[in-house]
Amino acid sequence: MNASVLEQMGRHVLMPQIGVAGQNRIQSATVMVIGCGGMGNVAIAYLAASGVHNLIIADFDVIDQGHLQRQILFGQQDVRKAKADVIESRLMAQYPGIVITPIRQKLNLERLLQCLKSCDVVIDCSDNEQTRLLLNEAATRSATPFITAAVSGFQAQMAVFDFREFDSPCYHCLPEEQHFNEVAAEDYTVLSPVVGVVGSMQAQEALRILAGFGPSPTGLLVHYDALNWQLTTQAMGLQAACEVCGY
Ligand SMILES: [Zn+2]
Repeated sequence: MNASVLEQMGRHVLMPQIGVAGQNRIQSATVMVIGCGGMGNVAIAYLAASGVHNLIIADFDVIDQGHLQRQILFGQQDVRKAKADVIESRLMAQYPGIVITPIRQKLNLERLLQCLKSCDVVIDCSDNEQTRLLLNEAATRSATPFITAAVSGFQAQMAVFDFREFDSPCYHCLPEEQHFNEVAAEDYTVLSPVVGVVGSMQAQEALRILAGFGPSPTGLLVHYDALNWQLTTQAMGLQAACEVCGY
């Protein structure tokens, strides 16, 4: 770590739970973020600011006026441009030397498994169940730590799985009634800062996994209710005979 990086990352490095070794692990990591919407914008921004040097960002959507309410990396001038491209140029201007790999196609299992070979953590910011289940399967198979979340209205949910641990449950282990709430796109409402809270938590958990601070988050389920100011966490166990993780 050279002197200028040390100066920039001093507020991490000075924490005994991170130190030079933890920051080096953060800087040498590759993180994949699926979905560059509200949560993805914030998760990506904090990962880049925290020193993650390699980011793979996947999104096939273009920016529209309605996204500007919560997708804070985009402005009026970006409407109708591809999200992944706008984030790539913005981060490259902000953090010289950062390596961004944008993917603008929908990913299937095979392509995901290919991408995850070089990833240390994968973060699901897609906010849809189909993608979440696909990513859960790919992450389980490739033993890549996986952080998923969903936001709707004032409510947010997040789950973290570290598949490097042999006894990690997976998202599919959750009973059906505990699967994240999904809302059809046309009925979707959200309080803007709630996606920021959850995107920040996803970046925080990625850094925890990379630097190795605090307790292992695997099997952690978080529910955040911004309307009534409640934050609850629970530890999730393995489900016998899960057809995805195989326990
Ligand atoms: Zn499972």
